[in-house]
Amino acid sequence: MHKETMLNGTLWNELEIPSAATINPPLHRASTVLFTNYAEMCAVGRNEYDGITYGTDRLPVQRCFEETMRRLENAAATRILPSGIEAIRSALMAFLQAGDHLLVCDNAYLTGQRFCDTILAKFGVTTTVLPATAGAEEVEQFIRPETAAILLESPGSITMELQDIPAVCAVAREHGLVTLFDNTWATPLHLDPFALGVDVILHSLSKYIGGYSDVLAGSVSVNERCAETFTEFYRLMELYTPAEVSALCLRGLHTLEVRLKRHEQSALTLARRLEQHPLVDRVLHPALESHPEHHLWKRDFTGSAGLFSLLLKREYPEAELGRFIDHLKLFRLGFSWGGYTSLLTAAKVPRRTACRYADRTVIRLNIGLENVEDLWNDLEQGLEQL
Ligand SMILES: *Cc1c(COP(=O)(O)O)cnc(C)c1O
Repeated sequence: MHKETMLNGTLWNELEIPSAATINPPLHRASTVLFTNYAEMCAVGRNEYDGITYGTDRLPVQRCFEETMRRLENAAATRILPSGIEAIRSALMAFLQAGDHLLVCDNAYLTGQRFCDTILAKFGVTTTVLPATAGAEEVEQFIRPETAAILLESPGSITMELQDIPAVCAVAREHGLVTLFDNTWATPLHLDPFALGVDVILHSLSKYIGGYSDVLAGSVSVNERCAETFTEFYRLMELYTPAEVSALCLRGLHTLEVRLKRHEQSALTLARRLEQHPLVDRVLHPALESHPEHHLWKRDFTGSAGLFSLLLKREYPEAELGRFIDHLKLFRLGFSWGGYTSLLTAAKVPRRTACRYADRTVIRLNIGLENVEDLWNDLEQGLEQL
């Protein structure tokens, strides 16, 4: 064999290197996946091959992550995607076609709403926005003969309104709609959307499941009714996520339960203290008795998370609010959430239906894994600047 042939990687497939029983699945970097003989290659063309055919055909670590999520959520099938927004986009595209009408709750992830209004509209799908707290009767009023799907997010990740999920799902089911539900806030540990009648569960894995602010990924899990449509869409689109991303999400899952407990406890402690703070008007956290839909949270969820919001009694000009925010040392400024670092965002929330918090600056806190007393001290000294 000439040296240049030796360099060209035939060795890995020839050498008999023993396989290693590592705790974690092997990570493959691959476009090409080899067949052992021509008969196997021909079987692919006939749709009779059950091995992995190509890099986009869900490499082993991805299959391991997807199967773990599938079992956690009790889904018929789960697929990983390159981001949470890609999960939303793909699920909508899989279940909608030109001429269809879509319902979206007003507190759903904003980038997803923008996709509906612009790109889906271009392909002939019209969207109607529902009030963030829409119940069964309101949803019923908005349904048209061509309504095909409804997208819910509860609690909405900024203003924290909840929908009556089982009631809305029941109406949707009666009218033959597909119900899609963004479960990023509660994670599979604190809400079981399929048990409430949801058909499709969406996640931004970039939040609690990724857990370390170093990965962008999403997932779509479907029930039996929607499994064929979505898995076929996924196969046709060849939606590819690098194996490293699946490995990081799988690694995040291993510590999800312990991290989420801490996020939850610290957030509750801070939310209760903030409620008593003289400058604070309202704390928007579904696990607080003061939350308008607390009864729904209590009925449907088994826990809360580390993300909540608050409204101050006064509306401050940007520079003055900035004094408070820029004085914080532990709360950093940045989008996304669910990681170990505490984060803050503050903005007026754009809304298209009547909203309790119209024209109010909503301060959203992502409570990280820092010591809770340190976080409280940070907030207190920051608020003193106002
Ligand atoms: C962040 C987020 C998304 C989008 O996820 P990315 O992974 O950032 O694309 C979707 N839904 C909710 C509720 C989110 O918070």
